[in-house]
Amino acid sequence: MKKVIVVGAGVSGLTAGYWLMRNGLDVEVFEKEERVGGAVQTLRENGYLFEKGPNSFLDNGVETMELCRELHLENELLKQSTRSNARYIYLNGELHNVPMGPGGLIKTKLLSGKAKRGLLLEIFRSANRSREDESLASFVRRRLGDEILNNLVTPFVSGVYAGDPEKLSLRGTFSILYDLERDHGGLMRGGIARLFGRKKAAKDAKSGEEKKPRARNLCSFVDGMETNTQAIARALDHRLRLQAPVSHIRKMPDGGYVVDSAGESIEAQAVVLAAPSYGAAALLEALAPKSADYIKSIPYNALAVVGMGYPRESIQHECNGFGFLSPRNQGVRILGSIWNSSLFVRRAPGGYRSFSVFIGGGLDPAAIQLSDEEMISQIRIDLGKTVGASGEPDVAHVFRWERAIPQYPIGHVERIEDLRRELEPLPGLFCIGNYLDGVSTNDCIRKAKKTAEEVARFLT
Ligand SMILES: Cc1cc2nc3c(=O)[nH]c(=O)nc-3n(C[C@H](O)[C@H](O)[C@H](O)COP(=O)(O)OP(=O)(O)OC[C@H]3O[C@@H](n4cnc5c(N)ncnc54)[C@H](O)[C@@H]3O)c2cc1C
Repeated sequence: MKKVIVVGAGVSGLTAGYWLMRNGLDVEVFEKEERVGGAVQTLRENGYLFEKGPNSFLDNGVETMELCRELHLENELLKQSTRSNARYIYLNGELHNVPMGPGGLIKTKLLSGKAKRGLLLEIFRSANRSREDESLASFVRRRLGDEILNNLVTPFVSGVYAGDPEKLSLRGTFSILYDLERDHGGLMRGGIARLFGRKKAAKDAKSGEEKKPRARNLCSFVDGMETNTQAIARALDHRLRLQAPVSHIRKMPDGGYVVDSAGESIEAQAVVLAAPSYGAAALLEALAPKSADYIKSIPYNALAVVGMGYPRESIQHECNGFGFLSPRNQGVRILGSIWNSSLFVRRAPGGYRSFSVFIGGGLDPAAIQLSDEEMISQIRIDLGKTVGASGEPDVAHVFRWERAIPQYPIGHVERIEDLRRELEPLPGLFCIGNYLDGVSTNDCIRKAKKTAEEVARFLT
């Protein structure tokens, strides 16, 4: 049987390994740590459940849902509580509901009259039709103005990427905005065009031509995000090797590869490299040096996620919603907080609330240097200002990420196309992972499944 080695057992490598196994291939997944999951890590303690890494995923990830069905996890799936749709931004000493539609945008106190007028005039702004990439900040400033950048977009980017919109590639991170302007001339024009497109698709669906658009709920599992990765690990069983760092990948003259791990050399007809960019770069140095140079240079920001529990009566705000984000210069250091016990059931013991608080990221790199005590003390002050938390927290866990999420630089998409070209003379070597084309777990799962299918085609 043809052998495939997968390097890395994060959600990308595990998913690839699973589908390779289901395709009837002889697969082995090598993981350098003693646990699987990579960034996916759940802590359960005394009735609390905290996520160190990803907190949730959207249920429109078709391949993620398919994987859940495959692994018989449907009954473990947890949809967001209905009360948790509201999102807030902390501005001028108050939490403001984030407007979700045009009506809300007109009423919101998050934007001045001038910014709202600027938003309405977006439809008349001339379009940049060049295919050149630019930073997310430059795009938003150009089309929507500084206030929208500072009060809405920057906090949102801090929340999703822990990043700085001045440095993030528009095309790599928010390709939908790039496409709306290039294809339709602007956000509003593109939005309208898409709305009509969707209505037509729904009509077609009724007449049996196309599927209905899918609902979009946030999901997790009853026992947290690790449920998925651990179920794959169980399915892979003896095909999974833990504490097995891969140190070299060598190409054999007559095709195939030799993979070195912990003093052993294993031959395989194909290799799927599912390590993070810095790990993948080290293994690609001799095989694809230009790409190795680029992916080594992809920056990551340092971030801390702090899980906090408080008695309900210690929090003044009702905290019914997803959570809040805080723009810079608002007198709080934290980037924002997810209200875990409002978002999902069973995240805190009865009578308590649970929060995941984010601090650090690209706009505050020094925060990671704070000791645990200093960090918790800062967070207590900031939760006091934002949600009216008082008194001692019941629990506080600091999870540190020296390298949290890859920050796609301007021109990233083109550089990844270069990488794929450089890999062409290396048949049987495949790269996946969150540094390529999407950071969400849904992106990782989708890409890993697609790659497993490509590997199967390549080997047969
Ligand atoms: C704080 C945080 C919050 C996030 N929140 C969300 C969220 O809410 N929703 C969402 O969808 N996404 C979120 N993400 C993003 C998402 O979790 C990641 O992008 C995704 O889990 C990455 O998976 P991966 O398998 O590509 O990489 P990783 O998880 O980094 O896994 C790579 C694996 O490769 C192993 N490895 C490395 N080198 C070697 C080697 N030489 N030999 C063998 N093994 C090796 C590593 O040990 C690791 O286990 C978040 C990420 C972070 C850090």
